[in-house]
Amino acid sequence: CWEMLDNMEQIGKIRQSTGDTLAELIERGRIMGKENCIFCKIANGGIPSSTIYEDEDFRVFLDLNPATKGHALIVPKVHYADLFELDDELAVKAILLAKRLAERMKDALGCDGFNLVQNNGAAAGQTIFHFHLHLIPRYEQDGAGIAWNPGKVSSEELKELVQLISET
Ligand code: 5GP
Ligand code: ZN
Repeated sequence: CWEMLDNMEQIGKIRQSTGDTLAELIERGRIMGKENCIFCKIANGGIPSSTIYEDEDFRVFLDLNPATKGHALIVPKVHYADLFELDDELAVKAILLAKRLAERMKDALGCDGFNLVQNNGAAAGQTIFHFHLHLIPRYEQDGAGIAWNPGKVSSEELKELVQLISET
C-alpha cells in the first residue's frame, strides 16, 4: 500500500530530524495526526478547505474568520502543537514559504502591508493547538486589531532582562 510506504518514509525522516523513538512519536500523535485535531484533518485533506498552496510538508488555506481580506494559515501536515515542538527543518521551510506567499499575496491583493503572526499557548492567544503561521495582508485603515499598548521599562529592568535572556 503506497500510503503506508509514504508514511514509513515520513516516519523515518521525522525520527532522523528529532531523534525521537518511534514510541515517542506515536505517543505525540505526530504521525497519524491527533485524532481530534481539526488542523491535522484539514492539512491532510480530510476536511475541505480553501487551499491556496500545498506541498509535501504544508497546506496553506484561508482563515474562516479572517482578520483581513486574504488572511491565510500555513499549517504543517504533521502535528506539532506549537513553535516549541516544531521541527527545525520545518521551521526554516515555513518562514521561506511565508516570504514567498507574502510576495505573491502582495501582488495579487494589492495590500499595503503584511503581518506574520504566530501564537503559542493560550496566554498568547493560541486557540488551535497545532502549529500555524498566520499570513495577514494589511490595508490602510483595515482596523485589524493586531497591536499592543506600548509599556515602559527601566534601564535596570533592561539590564536584568539581558542577563536572563542573552545567549552571549
Ligand atoms: P490561533 O488563535 O490559534 O493563532 O488561530 C487559529 C485560527 O484558526 C483563527 O484565526 C481561526 O479563525 C482559524 N480557524 C479555526 N478553525 C478553523 C477552521 O475550521 N477552518 C479555517 N479555515 N480556519 C479556522
Ligand atoms: Zn494536529
